[in-house]
Amino acid sequence: MPERRDLDWKNLGFAYLRPRLRFQAVWDGEWSAGELTEESTLTIEEGACGLHYGQQCFEGLKAFSAPDGSAHLFRPEMNGKRMARTAERLLMEPVPQELFLRGVRECVAANLDLLPPHGHGASLYVRPLLIGVGDNLGLRPAPRYVFRVFCSPVGPYFKGGQTGVHLVVTDLDRAAPNGTGAYKAGGNYAGALLATKRAKALGFDEALFLDAREHRYLEEAGSANVYGIIAGHPATLVTPDSPSILPSVTMDSVLTLAREDLGLKVERRPVALEEVAGFSEMACTGTAAGIAPVARVRHTEGEVTFNPCPGPISTELYRLLSGIQRGLLPDPRGWRVPVAG
Ligand SMILES: *Cc1c(COP(=O)(O)O)cnc(C)c1O
Repeated sequence: MPERRDLDWKNLGFAYLRPRLRFQAVWDGEWSAGELTEESTLTIEEGACGLHYGQQCFEGLKAFSAPDGSAHLFRPEMNGKRMARTAERLLMEPVPQELFLRGVRECVAANLDLLPPHGHGASLYVRPLLIGVGDNLGLRPAPRYVFRVFCSPVGPYFKGGQTGVHLVVTDLDRAAPNGTGAYKAGGNYAGALLATKRAKALGFDEALFLDAREHRYLEEAGSANVYGIIAGHPATLVTPDSPSILPSVTMDSVLTLAREDLGLKVERRPVALEEVAGFSEMACTGTAAGIAPVARVRHTEGEVTFNPCPGPISTELYRLLSGIQRGLLPDPRGWRVPVAG
């Protein structure tokens, strides 16, 4: 194993740090075997569909160091399946599961010098992407595809971190009911940048989107799902149900832990904006964000604040999820997948 790079592991933000190697495979009638390469740039045709028509998609997952120093991924097969579903929605050539998992593993194994050591709250973020390339002009699926996986060591995504994320409801829409919101298509994200910019200009961390049809129900934040807690015996964890929300692996894990380990009631259903005032806690979930407690939600009619932040249930969910991810707790569901072997 190469020696770890001398980085300030405790104070990593969420930024690109160029790894020495990345994995790449190409589809041109069939998938190439794939290999590691030192070339961090991509040369693609000027007519590439990925450039013009957004025929591009990506994934995001993390590798962690266990206390014994071993490296493992968190539920990578979920990301592999989601990328295949996205590819099918965009008429791209899906990356076979075996190739996806091998690419992710080889990328991490080749960059262990960038894997943060256990105990600093940092992790290695892995970014698979799939792009339609090849000479083209008209609106049609690309003739060739590039699958690439790179990685970068990261700390917290929201600077607010565990002291709470501040959300402001936006009147912009992220995704339409029958559009591509439920898929990790690159084209969904450029359109949401303006909402984030406006949120930041108002002093908030991120925008909170409502459903595009009625602007009445919660959707999600720009890159994270949301849940609310309704006090009771047991308490209820509720997360919005909508065809335009990206199905988060982190939220799926949180729902399982809430139900099975904490004995909470769990609901996935449309959640009206008015309901936020009745939540005792709220949080964002995503690979990058982890479980990020929400401190405040502003909307046109007023503001809801959450105190304490994080609340007790989110604190417990965070302890369980990050404990499993970091190898501190038993993993009865097999969510941790070793990088080696
Ligand atoms: C990636 C993403 C999430 C989080 O999904 P995870 O699988 O938990 O990382 C949530 N919302 C959007 C819009 C995303 O792109």
